[in-house]
Amino acid sequence: MTTARRTLLKGAAAWGALSAAPLPALAQPFLFSPSTELMPKGKKRRVLVLGGGWGGLSAARHLRETAPDLEVVLLEKNPIFWSCPLSNKWLVDVVDTSFLVHSYTAAARRFGYTYVQTEIADIDRDRKRVHTAQGFVDYDWLVVSAGVRVSYEPWFGNDRQASAYTHVNYSSAYVPSAEHLALKQKIKAFKGGTFVMTLPPPPHRCPPSPYERACLMASYFQRNKIPAKIVILDPKPSISPIGGGYRRAFDELYDDVITYVPNAGVKELDPFNRVVKTAAGDFRFDDAIFMGHHQAADLVWKLGAVGKTAEGKATNWAAVHPEFYNMKDDPNVFVIGDSVGAVSPQFGHYPKSGHIANRMGRSVAQYISQQAKGQPMKPVIIDNLCYMLVNTEPLEAISVKFEYKMGPEGHLLQTLTDDIFRRPQLWQEDLRWYGSMVQDFVGS
Ligand SMILES: Cc1cc2nc3c(=O)[nH]c(=O)nc-3n(C[C@H](O)[C@H](O)[C@H](O)COP(=O)(O)OP(=O)(O)OC[C@H]3O[C@@H](n4cnc5c(N)ncnc54)[C@H](O)[C@@H]3O)c2cc1C
Repeated sequence: MTTARRTLLKGAAAWGALSAAPLPALAQPFLFSPSTELMPKGKKRRVLVLGGGWGGLSAARHLRETAPDLEVVLLEKNPIFWSCPLSNKWLVDVVDTSFLVHSYTAAARRFGYTYVQTEIADIDRDRKRVHTAQGFVDYDWLVVSAGVRVSYEPWFGNDRQASAYTHVNYSSAYVPSAEHLALKQKIKAFKGGTFVMTLPPPPHRCPPSPYERACLMASYFQRNKIPAKIVILDPKPSISPIGGGYRRAFDELYDDVITYVPNAGVKELDPFNRVVKTAAGDFRFDDAIFMGHHQAADLVWKLGAVGKTAEGKATNWAAVHPEFYNMKDDPNVFVIGDSVGAVSPQFGHYPKSGHIANRMGRSVAQYISQQAKGQPMKPVIIDNLCYMLVNTEPLEAISVKFEYKMGPEGHLLQTLTDDIFRRPQLWQEDLRWYGSMVQDFVGS
């Protein structure tokens, strides 16, 4: 057996150990939360980090350095860390499982915080208490980095059967879960025909990554001579970001495989008869990836941090301070990562990326350390960088860089620079970027 195959099988076994993929937002199971205390507090004040993804791991690691006098506890439901960044490349075997999977216990040991594998059930802000499947844990500071949830409600309302069917058969693998393995198996098993891929309406997790996935799947189908057509149904009027780079890739590399359809928001989906009706026409499909609407994770709703519009409707994202990421009425409670809502009237949401989540995690570690010392918090301006692989023979990527500054009117301003010319050098940079990120929050 080759090393790559052994690694893949090891990864698959690890996934088998994971709990089943989360149910769609409509069908949350009742979670029993014991009334016993899981971890009594010692003398040290405690920071509880909820969610061990890109944001949570970054916060936990940097808290140990910036605030060594505080106890840091990370609660995460998964037994292993699984990275969404690079997962598109893993789907078509450009990287193996060892790139994506990392040990929570090793990271916690390395940096000196406590990791508890448990499902978080509820948050009681009045008592500064988090309820988990194994008991409650009290906190002095709370950092919530729970990512996104995928909602099919706008398509199916209360039709749970349609939601569940879509989730099982056409899920998008956009959260760290066993969905990734199911998608990989599905791509490998595809024998040909029309493969539809919908994008969620913005804002959503990693805006350029659905197009990257389409390119890599197209490249895989070409290489393996599978007579496939990929139809991308995009609710937006054009590809964004890196639109120029993707258009060139679609035209020059995948003209025979990819059809890009703009203004194609989903109006109706019949997953049983395999028809999707959109604003740009109706499409039949043989297989599909349906990306439901993205919203802040369940925990942010339980926290009571979801914002409201002027009309009193939920914004679906956390309303937090645009630079400090804490709640207005509870300054010791921070929400970071993809769950964060609009931060600027100029650009709205930060791009929902691992890079931004890492930067927010690092910043929050400083803010909590400053609060703990009774000092004023000093705002940190963050940045974002993203590489997307569009070709596999040779391996070539495109990229986008986001820079931020505070404008004269006291609002954050964003400058975005696309690098649309695909080349191997950008793929090498992507690998270096990923390695330095993982080094930062996992330490290996
Ligand atoms: C295909 C794909 C490609 C991407 N590529 C890139 C890229 O190239 N560059 C980039 O910067 N970003 C990329 N991203 C985006 C990146 O993955 C996210 O922006 C990042 O993971 C956000 O971090 P987070 O901490 O907010 O959420 P996550 O990393 O999703 O972490 C949330 C964690 O909270 C845990 N959790 C949630 N609820 C509970 C609960 N009730 N109890 C216990 N634990 C809970 C989850 O298990 C999870 O581990 C990509 C995403 C995808 C899907």
